[in-house]
Amino acid sequence: MLLLLTCLNPETRNLIMVQKTKKNSVEITEVGNIIDIKKDVITVSGIPNCVFGELLDFESGDKGLVIEFDEKRIVALLMGSGINAKAGDKAVSRGDLFRVPVTDKLVGRIVNALVKPMDGKGPIKPSAYNPVFKDAPAIMSRVPITESLETGIKILDTMIAVGKGQRELIIGDRQTGKTTIAMDAVINQKGKDVVCIYCWIGGSYTSMVKIIEALNGKGAMDHTIIVAAPASASSTEQYLAPYTASAIGEHFIEQKKDVLVVFDNLTRHAWIYRQIALLLNRSPGREAYPGDIFYVHSQLMERACRMNPKIGGSMTFLPIADTLQGDITGYVQTNLVSMTDGQIYTSAVLFNEGFRPAVDIGLSVSRIGSKVQSAALKEVSVQLRLEYAQFKELQKLTKMRAKISSEIAKKISRGQTLTEILIQPANAPISEMEEILIFYAFDVGVLDPFGREEIVKFEKNILKFMKEKHSEILGEIKITKELTPEIKQSINKAFMEFFKEHELLI
Ligand code: ATP
Ligand code: MG
Repeated sequence: MLLLLTCLNPETRNLIMVQKTKKNSVEITEVGNIIDIKKDVITVSGIPNCVFGELLDFESGDKGLVIEFDEKRIVALLMGSGINAKAGDKAVSRGDLFRVPVTDKLVGRIVNALVKPMDGKGPIKPSAYNPVFKDAPAIMSRVPITESLETGIKILDTMIAVGKGQRELIIGDRQTGKTTIAMDAVINQKGKDVVCIYCWIGGSYTSMVKIIEALNGKGAMDHTIIVAAPASASSTEQYLAPYTASAIGEHFIEQKKDVLVVFDNLTRHAWIYRQIALLLNRSPGREAYPGDIFYVHSQLMERACRMNPKIGGSMTFLPIADTLQGDITGYVQTNLVSMTDGQIYTSAVLFNEGFRPAVDIGLSVSRIGSKVQSAALKEVSVQLRLEYAQFKELQKLTKMRAKISSEIAKKISRGQTLTEILIQPANAPISEMEEILIFYAFDVGVLDPFGREEIVKFEKNILKFMKEKHSEILGEIKITKELTPEIKQSINKAFMEFFKEHELLI
């Protein structure tokens, strides 16, 4: 590289270097100085031509990310340890935007927010560099969401179906099973050609290790990338992690793949951003968050998309948010509710009652919902929400009255059966075919006389039985994707055979 010219900018009196590169092009760099360092926030003077998201090189070897500037100074977030950086050091701007290395080989790896490997499995050879802050895809390149993202969780797939390209918020108090729901959705993508990205923000290192172990145990790491920014990581990394996860996801979308990204969790991301904002002397607004916290999350959420199949794949987001004592009216929480396509609300009361996953159907919604379900699943689940809501109301009313009519008693008993069916252990997602069979059985009422034990026995064995003895019925459902009267008749017969064989008496 040949140094051609070094001069002072006459207006700002900062250093400008013009260099000739190997490719015979000219590179202009500006050189300024660090004037202040506060934790991860570095103030620099003398670089007037910068843009948001640009990368700065410091004399100490660290890098900085421009997040704020005015005519006189730039504020950058420090990337790296920054132990050697000090006031007075040189800061060089080359006009590069911050990009992270991406490659297909990231699948199965654990990386930090700068996509540096954290699993000791060796370096990652990038095939491209993607910008971390990228505009969301334009409307014209998107298509409506029509395909479902099967979570394998009965209560979600039937009543709060999630589509590929949707943003569905998982919100609830601490320890109510939010992470477990997201993990199950990831586990269920095994063999479905969906690349999953689990982005861990601000949580403890040990909890993250537990999640990775659980995913590994279920063979889910084969299709998953972990972007790890635990509480021990720098605030810059915790702030960047969700954008990095999206940038990695965008690499796979370009290859027309479907991507699922979990952000666990955005409440802690908001806390980190609040900390950074306080260091930047920004005036605190509602709940002490800076005014642009909405933008910080909305620019992220807009990146979820279902692209025109000619251009790319889809990216589904499952952001997670904490509530305090069931209060979903918090500032960050309401922001997130307004910028997503629905929310799954987990309730501490239901969780403690043993109803797990503790999804509160009354407060949960998916604005895509039944539009993406297969005809068969839609048919067996169309009545469930109403039936369950009625059961909950009747249950409340009948607590006060001793005498109830036989009709109401029947409705309550059916509601109890439905409750038993909706209970599902952690990390045990089931296939769509199992869901169709189970909810068809509930729909026609063959499970009504049974208690918990028999229902569990039915759920465990029915698919195996059908595969062994009536694979032709399953084949027909797969082809037609609906339950024709003939298929229904055959299933009814098969159910009777099953009950006889397993000595379940109706
Ligand atoms: P935090 O707010 O601390 O992040 P969380 O809401 O993410 O908590 P989880 O960590 O997913 O909650 O779950 C809390 C506990 O409940 C875990 O021990 C988990 O194993 C258990 N749990 C979650 N879902 C179920 C389930 N469906 N069946 C049985 N146990 C469950
Ligand atoms: Mg959690």
